[in-house]
Amino acid sequence: MKPDVVIVGAGPVGSLLALTLARRGLEVHVYERRPDMREVDIAAGRSINLAVSTRGLHALHEVSLDADVLQEAVPMLGRMTHALDGTLALLPYGRSESEHINSMSRGGLNKLLMTRAEETGRVSFHFNHKLIDYDFDLRVARFDPGGYVRAEVIVGSDGSASAMRACLGGDISQDVLSSGYKELTMPPARGGGFAMHREALHIWPRGSFMLIALPNRDGSFTCTLFLPFEGEPAFARLRTARQAQAFFERYFPDAVPLIPGLGRQFVQAPLGRMSTVKAWPWSRGSALLIGDAAHAIVPFFGQGMNAGFEDVTLLSGTLTRDWAGDFARFAEARKPDTDAIADLAVENFIEMRDKVADPQFLRMREIEHELQQRMPGRYLTRYQLVTFTRVPYRIALQAGEVQGRILADLARQERPDYELGVARAEEELVPLLHAHGLV
Ligand code: FAD
Repeated sequence: MKPDVVIVGAGPVGSLLALTLARRGLEVHVYERRPDMREVDIAAGRSINLAVSTRGLHALHEVSLDADVLQEAVPMLGRMTHALDGTLALLPYGRSESEHINSMSRGGLNKLLMTRAEETGRVSFHFNHKLIDYDFDLRVARFDPGGYVRAEVIVGSDGSASAMRACLGGDISQDVLSSGYKELTMPPARGGGFAMHREALHIWPRGSFMLIALPNRDGSFTCTLFLPFEGEPAFARLRTARQAQAFFERYFPDAVPLIPGLGRQFVQAPLGRMSTVKAWPWSRGSALLIGDAAHAIVPFFGQGMNAGFEDVTLLSGTLTRDWAGDFARFAEARKPDTDAIADLAVENFIEMRDKVADPQFLRMREIEHELQQRMPGRYLTRYQLVTFTRVPYRIALQAGEVQGRILADLARQERPDYELGVARAEEELVPLLHAHGLV
């Protein structure tokens, strides 16, 4: 049957979009460059597991998949920081245990979405089809192999190096981070179970670099080292298994005994790059970009996929089938928010690798905690706004700026004037939250 919509890219965002459109009665054809990951064991690419939070869960709820996904996830209630001397400290993410994030297998989630999309009977996947170009006049896409395919309405969810984005032309700014990443596996403890506290995202903050670890259902952790490419220390200086082993022993001594074959794993792991991509326009006629293809961000707020899933929620909420109009309206309304989360994600990189070990930062967090105690339900942190609400990202950015000013002023005082802090938060922050139905 002739498709109503062609989607390019069967990553998590393209697969969720296909499922969402199919549930609305549309016929969808999805073209994916890689083989079917349910049949061929391909590396999921771009991190083994990832954190799913409120925005992503809401989009999954709309296709009745949130409960299934949560069943396969490990809840993470806070950040567990590992100091160099092995001291541990747990900083809870939210006001209560119900505010947590969920560690989920990226491949598992992607496969589930594809299968559920197919089960609607309205979605066909065409694997091993790579988009080469799209003719906007004839509305024909060319795939290799596969040749020409009529695509009246086409959505590019083909990731951060999007071919569809190149077809649209327009302006693209790409900021490549000077740090890269490698993933290592920490297996379950001998005798089963988790080798570290299970319900946390573990962080070893070390200034210009850091190690993090997210739990998996099987008791293992996926550890990710974020480190500059060049300089000291840097990936460029860790060429051998022995160098990697010595580096870990120096900076992450408590992790070393828990990662067998560390040096070997390190040299075998691919070195990943991360970038922020801001592109415009996202739409031209009845063609649209969505997810990382439109707005790739660095992973430090755990929001890339969540933001892509939120794109799906917002787009499907506005569809009238005047495709060109719907796409243009969606893009205009959404762009300021994805720009905001892109900037927040870069800021959070600095916070995670550097500031969580900084006394001034910790003092500001303590002050913030006290303000929250004094204003029950009326003070939401920037992290809470991004992770546990669906308030537009630009509002979270704005609220964070207000909070930053209040906290910095109080932190300068030897004994913080909390009454003044509360008064300022009531005046400057609460109206913003109130306008978005949060207090
Ligand atoms: P992708 O996942 O990149 O999928 C794009 C798909 O398009 C792929 O299947 C690809 O094969 C296909 N494709 C590409 N080119 C073509 C072509 N020419 N023709 C046909 N098909 C094509 N996000 C979170 O929300 N939480 C996290 O905790 C998190 N952690 C992360 C950790 C790391 C280390 C990294 C790198 C990213 C992380 N992210 C996280 C971000 C998240 O991975 C991305 O935002 C998400 O994968 C975007 O989904 P997508 O479907 O838009 O793109």
